[in-house]
Amino acid sequence: MPQSLLPVKAAIANGNLESNPSPSPEYAEVAVPLRVKHTYTYRLPVAYRQNARVGARVIVQFGRQQVTGYIVDLRESFETKSGLTDADIKPVIDLLDDEPLLIPEILTIVQWVADYYAAPWGEVLKAALPAGLNVAHEKVFRITTLGHDELERMIEKGKTNLTCRVLQLIAEAEKVSMRLIEQQVTTRQASRIVNELEKAGYIAHEHTKRQETARTKQRKSVRLLPPESRDGSLQLRTLTINQKRTLDTLANAGGTISLAELLTGASVSASTVRTLEKAKLLEVFTVDVRRDPFGGEAFPVPIDFELNEEQTRSLTEIEAAIAAGSYAAFLLHGITGSGKTEIYIRAMRATLARGKTAMMLVPEIALTPVFSRRLRACFGDQVAIFHSSLSVGERYDEWGRLKRGEARIVIGTRSAVFAPVSNLGLVVVDEEHETSYRQHESPYYHGRDTAIVRARMESAVVLLGSATPSIESYHNAHIGKYRYLHLPRRIGNRTLATATLVDMRKVFAVHQRSEVFSAELLAEIEATHARGEQSIILLNRRGFSSFVLCRSCGESIHCPNCDVTLTFHRGASALVCHYCNHRQRTPMVCPTCSGKYIHYVGEGTEQIEDLLRNRFPTLRIARLDRDTTSRRKLYEKVISEFSVGELDMLVGTQMLAKGHDFPNVTLVGVVSVDAGLSLPDFRSAERTFQLITQVAGRAGRGTRAGRVLIQTYHPDHYALRHACEQDYEGFYAEEMRYRKSLNYPPFVVLASLLVRGKDARTVLTTAAEMRTALDKANSNRECRVLGPAPAPIARLKGEYRRQILVKAHSRARLRDTIDKAIVAATERGCDAQMINLEIDPVDLM
Ligand code: ADP
Ligand code: ZN
Repeated sequence: MPQSLLPVKAAIANGNLESNPSPSPEYAEVAVPLRVKHTYTYRLPVAYRQNARVGARVIVQFGRQQVTGYIVDLRESFETKSGLTDADIKPVIDLLDDEPLLIPEILTIVQWVADYYAAPWGEVLKAALPAGLNVAHEKVFRITTLGHDELERMIEKGKTNLTCRVLQLIAEAEKVSMRLIEQQVTTRQASRIVNELEKAGYIAHEHTKRQETARTKQRKSVRLLPPESRDGSLQLRTLTINQKRTLDTLANAGGTISLAELLTGASVSASTVRTLEKAKLLEVFTVDVRRDPFGGEAFPVPIDFELNEEQTRSLTEIEAAIAAGSYAAFLLHGITGSGKTEIYIRAMRATLARGKTAMMLVPEIALTPVFSRRLRACFGDQVAIFHSSLSVGERYDEWGRLKRGEARIVIGTRSAVFAPVSNLGLVVVDEEHETSYRQHESPYYHGRDTAIVRARMESAVVLLGSATPSIESYHNAHIGKYRYLHLPRRIGNRTLATATLVDMRKVFAVHQRSEVFSAELLAEIEATHARGEQSIILLNRRGFSSFVLCRSCGESIHCPNCDVTLTFHRGASALVCHYCNHRQRTPMVCPTCSGKYIHYVGEGTEQIEDLLRNRFPTLRIARLDRDTTSRRKLYEKVISEFSVGELDMLVGTQMLAKGHDFPNVTLVGVVSVDAGLSLPDFRSAERTFQLITQVAGRAGRGTRAGRVLIQTYHPDHYALRHACEQDYEGFYAEEMRYRKSLNYPPFVVLASLLVRGKDARTVLTTAAEMRTALDKANSNRECRVLGPAPAPIARLKGEYRRQILVKAHSRARLRDTIDKAIVAATERGCDAQMINLEIDPVDLM
């Protein structure tokens, strides 16, 4: 364990987190939210010593900037490290919280994440808190005396150039941010000019604290005062009509009402209320109001079913574990519609009944409303919700309700694993196989794995649910790490849709060219709608998109920043990079050879939608993909129209395969499943298997049987064959053979070292240095080192990327070797900021 991570463990052991053992600690150990390994010692000014607590935020000077840090330990004495003397220790600038923000449980799990995923502690702490709590710092510029003199000279000389204008702006504003300067002088030159001015000493910069964005929302309310408090200056007899009406309205509302309601209800102005307040006839006061993410929605009434036999057996086991009150892990393997959610809900109820709290993680933001409404219907105000489309204020309120114990169930995406709940009894991870549990930027962590560890630390029960468990989890169930619960049947014995592969090679042979739709799929669409039923057509978009190709030279158009082809978006008539969001107009001629024959290859969801509209002009079709889902309202509108039958067909990406329950959908067509199979990722077969199984779960959720047609050029692929037969065991056995023979997880532990940077040469040499260092650290050959090779996306957002994979049988050995190698490489002059270490990487890209 890295040195820097020790203090909290020690603090917890000493009981530091509960109270302050030392009445007046002189030093604080602070974690800063930056890419640094260690924590730093700061001196506590006398004024803060009484109130400083582990878990509170502080402002500290770090290098040349001021940052918000988190106190992770308090000490009476200063331990000399790396030659620092007491005089080198800087003071804490500001103590932001009297009440610690971080409860001990969060500090502990955050510490584990930082350690396990080799992530900076402060960065994980920041990710664990709701966004609005992180005080932002802004760089502001002010003019110097030298600058004032220069400005005067410029004005005397009658200069009006840009430099002069910028300097004048800064002089007038006293303190001004880069953002404001850019707004005022609307030119790209602004930042260059500011840099030059600063170099010349005409301006200087500092950092100021920007206001916190999240705080409790308050509302003004009014209440009637009892007669004895009146001061007699206003006689009831002499009240004006307006004043009377105000008092009547207030009395009719039961004596208390919000100010806004009073003003509109009595149609009076604020001054009327003020006069009455002065006379002590009423009182205006403020109340904290909660921003409810559900608004004033109505919820479905929960139905109390009789659980079926398998559900009962599973729930009994889970409830026994909850009653035992110690750590236990379950894998609940149940096909879609087998009643898993019902088990989650009852397990949560059992948890609450024991006075404990429950947490439920869900993979997608888009899914959260569905689940959270169902939970809200069962548990009312006890549920707090966390997902990324909440406003900063809503999130802050939900977080506060949990921390104060007002809500005892939290539901949310990945980061909800850091929710401030005490006395945790149950953690549910729904769709545990989903890749969105993995955070794809620093701090890299896996929400599911973190949830399991948190459950273990807090002696809670963890319940992983999936229709298609990840290979790792299924393996863990096999070796007894998890207890296995199986729901093999659908509720009401509804049949699963039968999935059929359509061999596109035969379609090609018939038409002598590639067709988007097979005759079979078109006929099924026709028949489905003739029966008045609905269909979903989807595209496996992973690594697949429509792009522009020149027929003359064969070149496709690439993103200038990333090593990928640009995707054609017909709606916007633009080419877009799906990695860096670079956009450009569709060219009229080929940029490489100036040829005129630009050709669109592959079908995006937009093209599929167009083709289907032309083919079936009477069908009401809507499209859902990444472009539409970024607009939450639009997304919800389409989903609700489709569910009430105002739309006939949905076209979209694989996200459509998840979560929704549309009883009238009896046909799902997968236009092309192959792109996902050919990705350079050892999990591509697993992903494809999961996709098809999920798709099959979407068709025929109602009483009618459903059909699934999957178009492919690889009908013999084992992932496709087993998926069509709904044979998880068969797929698992074959996939495990493949993983074993090629040494992939779960047979080894894996880490990826990504070396990235703007300069190709430095990236190349750093990667090579890293490899040498790894070989040295690995002298006893306990790890296997592969690479460096160009990463699957060799250039991204203007950065070159090379990847080294490290495999080992022992996790400890893997980390030890890598940690040593990184230290050695940085000692030899490599830039540690260029090296991204990812433990248990999920998507290699
Ligand atoms: P899953 O989460 O496995 O997809 P759900 O828990 O959502 O399955 O159950 C599918 C449907 O069946 C839901 O509409 C649910 O309300 C209903 N359901 C669940 N359990 C039962 C039961 N024992 N009896 C009747 N209906 C049930
Ligand atoms: Zn790009």
